[in-house]
Amino acid sequence: MITEEIYKKYGEMGIDKKVLDFSMATEMNLKDRFAEIDQIAEYNQLKIIKAMQDNRLSDIHFAATTGYGYNDIGRDTLEQVYADVFNAEDALVRPQLMSGTHALAVALAGNLRPGDEILSPVGKPYDTLEGVIGITPSNGSLAEYGVTYKQVDLLPGGEFDWEGIRNAINPKTKLATIQRSKGYDSRPTLSVKSIGELIKFIKGIRPDIICMVDNCYGEFVETIEPTDVGADLCVGSLIKNPGGGLAPTGGYIVGRSKYVENASYRLSAPGLGKEVGATLGLNAPLFQGFFMAPTVVASAVKSAVFAANLYERLGYDVLPKGNDDRYDIIQAITLNSPEAVIAFCQGIQAAAPVDSYVTPEPWPMPGYTCDVIMAAGAFVQGSSIELSADAPIKPPYTVFFQGGLTWYHGKFGILMTLQKMYEKGLTDLDQ
Ligand SMILES: *Cc1c(COP(=O)(O)O)cnc(C)c1O
Repeated sequence: MITEEIYKKYGEMGIDKKVLDFSMATEMNLKDRFAEIDQIAEYNQLKIIKAMQDNRLSDIHFAATTGYGYNDIGRDTLEQVYADVFNAEDALVRPQLMSGTHALAVALAGNLRPGDEILSPVGKPYDTLEGVIGITPSNGSLAEYGVTYKQVDLLPGGEFDWEGIRNAINPKTKLATIQRSKGYDSRPTLSVKSIGELIKFIKGIRPDIICMVDNCYGEFVETIEPTDVGADLCVGSLIKNPGGGLAPTGGYIVGRSKYVENASYRLSAPGLGKEVGATLGLNAPLFQGFFMAPTVVASAVKSAVFAANLYERLGYDVLPKGNDDRYDIIQAITLNSPEAVIAFCQGIQAAAPVDSYVTPEPWPMPGYTCDVIMAAGAFVQGSSIELSADAPIKPPYTVFFQGGLTWYHGKFGILMTLQKMYEKGLTDLDQ
């Protein structure tokens, strides 16, 4: 029997029968849920194949360019494929965009001028953007170039503060930055539909406000993207969802031609724009990773849903809840003690294909006010579409975890977190 063999194998890998029995019962209940996740992946897979076919993708597009990178038809085709999948006019998809933060910084700096104002109608943006915008004083920030910033928080229930947003918009407002994923915050992640409603509201007040969505962690979790509902720009990292685990580096900016073009003059130089940028042979993994992204994202979403349901059953507070709809790949689990957070992260690490022998420990990471523990055994450094977890060591002891290139790895990682907690007597499986 195949089930017996799998059980035996999990046993060899260090998972107790008790942990397995408990977890398998949770998995059994998720069949319908997983089928829905697979359908979203199926739809998105077709969308990507269609864009590749329409652009007559061929192996000539996988050739390496060097130097200035003039006439890199692989790069140009990759950007057109992204634009088509996102239902947008143009895209900048480059290994020279070093991270999500860099892509966002380029999109902002390229489209803002002194005297302009940025509005965040969804509360505080992702930590790294504080320095970019200059919310916290920072050398080289947009604030130093005379760009101001206004923020309207979500209401306590997580809804948009429509009145607050209306009042915040003024003649200087040039760009609204809308973060789709909650990131490591406690607010809800926005559905693409609700992003569409927000954009419609903003455009109803001033149609010329550029609506930019920080799409990190959101790509392919749903069948539509923010550019399908009116976003002028959508920005993200290739070592998250759209790189499919294969992109070794990079970021993307997709949207209306003039705004993508503005960003390109900041990425390279005024006058050069999109025409330069050697791809050094990276086009092939960027195409292939994009092709893999829908199923990789489905694996990550399944892992998140599985973990939510498993830990909810054990009595822990989880966000999103086990039954909630998913709009990104991040799962937060509140484990109530530092020991449990450390055991959880050590479980993720122990299940990794890379660096599984390393034991993560909390350390005083620069920029944080408390120790932080991080678990990742990734093929690509810092890649968070690969199974990874991190937690600040402070009450209420919430661990954030995301990724899983395959569902089986995600599952094994989560089993290992429970195993470590069980071994240390931190959780009770007799319920
Ligand atoms: C990861 C992330 C970023 C920044 O991306 P980096 O690649 O880590 O620089 C920005 N916004 C959100 C919501 C993210 O999740």
